[in-house]
Amino acid sequence: MGKIQLLNETITGRIAAGEVVERPASIVKELVENSVDAQATAISIHVEEGGIREIRVSDNGMGIEPEDMPLTIAKHATSKIYTLADLEAIHSMGFRGEALSSIAAVSMLTIRSRAQSHDAGMELYSRGGKVEYIREAGLPEGTSILVDNLFFNTPARLKFLKKPGAEAAAITDIVSRLILAYPEVSFRYSCNGKTLLHSPGNGDLMGAVLCVYGMEYKERLLPVDFTVNNIRVSGYIGSPNWTYKTQKAGSFYINGRYVKSAALQNAVARSYGERLMKGNYPFYVLHIDMDRSEVDVNVHPNKLTVHFSDENAVEYAVNNAVLDGLGIFRRTPVLQIPE
Ligand code: ADP
Ligand code: MG
Repeated sequence: MGKIQLLNETITGRIAAGEVVERPASIVKELVENSVDAQATAISIHVEEGGIREIRVSDNGMGIEPEDMPLTIAKHATSKIYTLADLEAIHSMGFRGEALSSIAAVSMLTIRSRAQSHDAGMELYSRGGKVEYIREAGLPEGTSILVDNLFFNTPARLKFLKKPGAEAAAITDIVSRLILAYPEVSFRYSCNGKTLLHSPGNGDLMGAVLCVYGMEYKERLLPVDFTVNNIRVSGYIGSPNWTYKTQKAGSFYINGRYVKSAALQNAVARSYGERLMKGNYPFYVLHIDMDRSEVDVNVHPNKLTVHFSDENAVEYAVNNAVLDGLGIFRRTPVLQIPE
């Protein structure tokens, strides 16, 4: 007798949720990216007990149309791509239509939203992915998402989370990077009732860097803005005599998306070269803007890894941009001898 069976929806839902919702910080990232896709200019993030008890993300974006509300937590339901061609050049942060369904599967989720040009809003409540109610509600324009009691129905996952303090630190880290990714958005982030970060949202990357890392960074930053082969690398790098013991002080944003890349990290390190002592790493916040069809973000559900169609070209651009920022290509002035 055959042994293969199709898994039922509850199991497939939980498995999918495991890839998107690794920990509270991954939920915060997904929710903020949804707000950015909704063209929000202000996003507030509030967490309790490292996000395990509660995560709340509210925005002033375009909101969700009333008839779309039931679909928000359906699997593979998205308003961001429609065709296979769309997948070739992604313009939004989301596109897989699985964040809200995955989050819903492992929490008690409330979605409140009022779409622009609608008089009333809608509220949806789901427990472990099962919708308990959808009803009309008086709400401001925009969307507010509340995730309560994460992993209440998956005790094994709950057990693998770190202490609330460590989960909160991971959330602060991702929020910091989101602030650096979207300097045009004003973020307010609070943890257990205390505001930890509040970014200006005026489009100025320096302002975002100072908000995240502190005013004392101002003197330590060197600006970078370099374009080669249609790849623009811009942002800030730290002066070489001011280094970290960890690689975490650097971050890359490709077409606005925070991503991790060991290859690009090495490209930066190569530019600093001998200027860095062994075991020391530089600070950098680098935005890389390039043709969207040259980057594949559909590598992993968490969208933190990307593949480049020409990785060497991107490494080359980063390498040279940092050299330029460090002033290594700057020509020494030629003495003018008066006639
Ligand atoms: P994706 O972002 O990949 O489309 P999600 O599961 O994250 O998938 O979200 C599903 C859909 O719900 C989105 O495509 C969008 O239409 C809607 N949505 C989610 N969050 C928001 C928000 N903050 N504002 C407006 N619409 C939202
Ligand atoms: Mg999304």
